[in-house]
Amino acid sequence: MSKVIGIDLGTTNSCVSVVENNTPVIIPGASGSMTTPSVVAFTSKGERLIGESARRQAVTNTERTISSIKRHMGEKWSVRIDGTEYNPQMISAMILMQLKKDAEEFLGEKVEEAVITVPAYFNDIQRQATKDAGRIAGLTVKRIINEPTSAALSYGLNHGEPQKVMVYDLGGGTFDVSIIEIGEGVIEVLATAGDNHLGGDDFDERVCDWIVRKFREENHVDLSRDFMAMQRVRDAAEQAKKELSTNDTAHILQPYLIQNKGESLHLDMTLTRSEFESLISDLIARTEDPVRNALNDAGIAPSELGKVLLVGGSTRIPAVQSKVRALTGQEPSKNINPDECVAKGAAILGSTLQGNGLVAAGTGQNLLLLDVTPLSLSIETVGGVATRVVERNTTLPTRYSQIFSTAAPYQRSVDIHVLQGERPMARDNKTIGKFRLKGIKAAPAGVPRIEVTFDIDTNGILKVSAKDLDTGKEQSIVITADDRMSESEIAAAMQETQNYAANDQVRRDAIELLSEAQKLLSQSGERVKAAGKQLDRSLKKEIRSATASLRKLVGKCRLDKVERQELDEIRSAMRALEQCLSRMP
Ligand code: AMP
Repeated sequence: MSKVIGIDLGTTNSCVSVVENNTPVIIPGASGSMTTPSVVAFTSKGERLIGESARRQAVTNTERTISSIKRHMGEKWSVRIDGTEYNPQMISAMILMQLKKDAEEFLGEKVEEAVITVPAYFNDIQRQATKDAGRIAGLTVKRIINEPTSAALSYGLNHGEPQKVMVYDLGGGTFDVSIIEIGEGVIEVLATAGDNHLGGDDFDERVCDWIVRKFREENHVDLSRDFMAMQRVRDAAEQAKKELSTNDTAHILQPYLIQNKGESLHLDMTLTRSEFESLISDLIARTEDPVRNALNDAGIAPSELGKVLLVGGSTRIPAVQSKVRALTGQEPSKNINPDECVAKGAAILGSTLQGNGLVAAGTGQNLLLLDVTPLSLSIETVGGVATRVVERNTTLPTRYSQIFSTAAPYQRSVDIHVLQGERPMARDNKTIGKFRLKGIKAAPAGVPRIEVTFDIDTNGILKVSAKDLDTGKEQSIVITADDRMSESEIAAAMQETQNYAANDQVRRDAIELLSEAQKLLSQSGERVKAAGKQLDRSLKKEIRSATASLRKLVGKCRLDKVERQELDEIRSAMRALEQCLSRMP
């Protein structure tokens, strides 16, 4: 049986883990590091770069480099590159494929199944999108699990005593807080809350704004108008932010940042930790309400917490740690690796889903994982009111039914509008699906009885069905949110991915061959130049024509579509040119 890998598909970095000899281990990426940047780039030659290599070239290839795609998960977002439209699921699938490949190389065997983590606060559409991304990458997603739950799972197994813990997870793009009860073989999420659009990227933006403002005051130049310069400023801002987690000051230095009136201007500034803290204090304060709400929903006081776990790169910021201390009255635990524990928890769950006993704890016990739904689910009723069907923080899996009726006399159909969120009015919540139940028996208003059932599985994914209780007929209804991919779109994306993967060897050969061809072209130019007038005119003409043919073939070759036959043509053009060169004196 092949192993189930655990994947933390992060906004900034991703991490993959697998259980080996009863212990979760992190699988190193291609560059040898424990995490892989969640960055995808398309080179002008049509090659796809993933991870560290994509991140490194981001500054020089901004428009064709995609980072923080997780922020768009489940949104109607797309990017068009070389005539192909890519949505967040497809971009995420490329990252997942890379992690799958790294895992296969590490294990020396095929990997087909995974557990993927998502922020607890992800809604149904975002979870579905993540699952679809896994499918596109050729993975069967055994389970979608909440990141804080996963972190608690990896922590809980090493520190087995039963207790309630808080997981405060502040990453690059999202904030999650969960209260989790760890028992003997049972991990139960009591409550979860958060903010889908809060994280380290926002801190970077504040530092960027500060740099741009200060640069304008000092040099009267607006950096924000220069795309390339801004890319460097963004990198420098993140670097400075990270340095300030350990140092009191950060020196921000970017030589030759921008040209102004024929003069090069350099970026040379110092940001102090206290200045940085005042730039981001309101953002950190936004974590207060979710923390209080989660504690309230779980019905516990901060003093009842056995441990406060910090997860996510942004919890390395001292001001964030102080905020956690102030909110909980506890010293947060630092002995878990915030970058790795989420993936490890997913690997542990993956292993137990295969029927293995609880790893690391050495108990051989089965694991019971009780997660909750992060947001309330409702349907829209008369007057635009959101009527609750499932309350937030309900333990999963769950199934709820409620009877609704018609609002107008002799109404033959009803529109069912499914919503996610806590607000009382439908328009203030997120629409996650709409459908029409037709064929209701003609009757006065309020007489028909329509049973609407919400089914939420262990992944937090929702199915809604409706039944006309009078006719007894159940209509099969599928939620089709506008931004979900259809089955045929997923199938097409899977096909494209598989073709791309199958062509990997051809592409690798092409990269090598193109570099040899470029070398030959420049050698030929140099030799013709060196020979000067000594070169026979007709041979010179032949060399020129052979060079032109080869250059044309090389220029035409696109790595994303390259085929063997094209490489053969390049090879024979190279041979023709080599033959001409061999006849030179
Ligand atoms: P994650 O999504 O958990 O990988 O977190 C990534 C975020 O953590 C990014 O915004 C990083 O800039 C941020 N981060 C990583 N290391 C540090 C650090 N030492 N200090 C502050 N922020 C950090």
